[in-house]
Amino acid sequence: MDAGNTAIIDKIMSLKKAKNALFLVHNYQLGEVQDIADFAGDSLELSRKAATSDADVIVFCGVHFMAETAAILNPERTVLLPDLHSGCPMADMINADQLRELKKKHPKAKVVCYVNSTAEVKAESDICCTSANAVKIVETLKDAEEIIFVPDQYLGSYAAEQTGKEMILWPGYCPTHARILPSDIQKRKAENPNAVVIVHPECKVETRALADARLSTGQMAQFAQETDKKEIIVGTEIGLLHRLRKENPDKTFISATEQAICPRMKLITLETVLWSLENMENRITIPEEISIKAKNAVDRMLEVH
Ligand code: SF4
Repeated sequence: MDAGNTAIIDKIMSLKKAKNALFLVHNYQLGEVQDIADFAGDSLELSRKAATSDADVIVFCGVHFMAETAAILNPERTVLLPDLHSGCPMADMINADQLRELKKKHPKAKVVCYVNSTAEVKAESDICCTSANAVKIVETLKDAEEIIFVPDQYLGSYAAEQTGKEMILWPGYCPTHARILPSDIQKRKAENPNAVVIVHPECKVETRALADARLSTGQMAQFAQETDKKEIIVGTEIGLLHRLRKENPDKTFISATEQAICPRMKLITLETVLWSLENMENRITIPEEISIKAKNAVDRMLEVH
């Protein structure tokens, strides 16, 4: 760690203490930001932490919808997002009007909404899911006549494959995971014949088919600790490799492709975290009528174990 970072981290930590703040950090954030986390994890793990927090301030180092979810679960606490430009392109691929239109065409359908969505879209949904629990959530709806799944067609198709339940899929996708191609996996496997391959379910069907396991980032972290394999090819955003290497220094982690970078996840830095705490900006608030409805969908997800 360089001296500049040490000085900034010292300032951040003293403000954090003074303001009784909690740092929740997504697995795709820059390594320097992951290193100051109270808790680093995937969307589901971070939602659970946010729901049980007793901090006065939650500094959310992730993308906009994640900070919104923390605000939905903690309407009485201050939730800060250090950079307002850190939005998720997939979450912006559907809006509430579009979902209402789709619901009109399928009035009996239940709506499952990936947490990578805006608060307005969550408010129009019956239940949320994350990549860690999408299969379980769809299973809870096995008696539904129809299921609409938004916005990620690839996570939706993965849950459909695993449950055998056909679903109406919104054609959204994650541009970062869509860049991980079958040819990338084939190349890495040829270079590392003893490696095991894990990919995120946001990857395309053809890419997923070449993997040994399809896992959320939290599940990847667990897998990395438990596997006997020493070489692991990882098909997700490259930020996760920082955590995997730190937690498993005896293992080798190989990114499926260096192209798997989410630029929006890299906007938050130590400097913006410090600015955020000093100025108590950017506060994420949700109109109450939307927040209450969105919370129902998130709470239903958190009740499923
Ligand atoms: S990695 Fe994909 S899903 Fe995650 S924030 Fe970036 S664009 Fe959105």
